[in-house]
Amino acid sequence: MWTPLDFGWHALLSSSMNLRLLSPLEVIVAAEAAYRNRGLELASVEGFIRQILGWREFMGGMYFIDMPGLKTASHYGHTRDLPAWYWTGNTRMNRMRQAIGQTLANGYSHHIQRLMVTGVFGITAQIIPQQVCGWYLAVYVDAVEGVELPNTAGMALFSDGGRFTSKPYVASGGYVKGMSNYCSGCSYETEIRIGPSACPLTTLYWNFLDAHEATFGANPRTAPRVKNLQRMSPEQRAAVRSRAIEMRGNLDAL
Ligand SMILES: Cc1cc2nc3c(=O)[nH]c(=O)nc-3n(C[C@H](O)[C@H](O)[C@H](O)COP(=O)(O)OP(=O)(O)OC[C@H]3O[C@@H](n4cnc5c(N)ncnc54)[C@H](O)[C@@H]3O)c2cc1C
Repeated sequence: MWTPLDFGWHALLSSSMNLRLLSPLEVIVAAEAAYRNRGLELASVEGFIRQILGWREFMGGMYFIDMPGLKTASHYGHTRDLPAWYWTGNTRMNRMRQAIGQTLANGYSHHIQRLMVTGVFGITAQIIPQQVCGWYLAVYVDAVEGVELPNTAGMALFSDGGRFTSKPYVASGGYVKGMSNYCSGCSYETEIRIGPSACPLTTLYWNFLDAHEATFGANPRTAPRVKNLQRMSPEQRAAVRSRAIEMRGNLDAL
C-alpha cells in the first residue's frame, strides 16, 4: 500500500467479471496463453489464476451454501454504528483516510486495503457487520453481493464464526505501518498502546485479544499473540480496556 499508487499491479478485472462482460474462464485462458507465449513467470500467472479459479469461485460457493444466514450473521454480536467518516475519509487516522479516500475517488481499492485497513477497523471497533457490509456494497465498482458478502462478513469480519477462515483477521497498528507508507505523518503512533496519541488500531487490537483471550489462546495460530498479551500487566490491560471503551463511545472523533 503506497500513496499515491492507487492501483499498483492489480488487474482491475473484478468489475468486468462481476458484470459478466468477461467470463472468468476467458480471463484464465488468456492468462495461461500469455504465460506460454510471452514467457511470464509461472508463480505470477499461477497466483493470478488461483485468485479467480480458487477464491472467486470459492466465495461464490460459500454464498450459495450460507445464504440467507450469512447476511444476518453476527458471531460477536457487535453493536457500534459505522463512523460517518467511512463516507468521507475525514478522520485523523491516516491509513483510513488514504484507503477510504482512494476508494471514494476510484470506486476501487485492492484486497489488502479492504481486508487489513477498513476491515480490521470494522471488526476491532465492534461495528455492526451489516453496516460494514452495506458500506462495501455501496462504494466499490465490483460490489456484487455474491462476491462481496463472503469476503466482508466471512473473511474480514468473522461474523459467520469462521466457516472458511481459521481465525479472525485482526492486527495491531504496526501491521499497516510495515506494509505501507500510510503511517508517516499520522497523528497517531502505532507503537503506543494506550492514551490519546496511541494508534486506535493498536488499542483496539489489544482490546480485542483481551476480550477473546480464551478462544485466541486455544487456537495454535493465534496462541502466540495471547502470550504477548499476557506479558502486559493487569493495570496495562485495564487501561487498554478503558481507552477502547472511550474510543468506541465516539468513533466519529478519531
Ligand atoms: C472486505 C472485502 C470485500 C471485497 N469485496 C469484493 C467485491 O465486492 N467484489 C469483488 O469482486 N471482490 C471483492 N473482494 C475481493 C478482492 O479485493 C477484489 O476482487 C479485488 O481487489 C479486485 O481487484 P482486481 O480486479 O484488481 O484484482 P486482482 O488483485 O488483480 O486479482 C485478480 C482477480 O482475482 C479475483 N479475486 C482476488 N481475490 C479475491 C477474493 N478474495 N474474492 C473473490 N475474488 C477474488 C478477482 O476476480 C480479481 O479480479 C473483497 C475483498 C475483501 C477483503
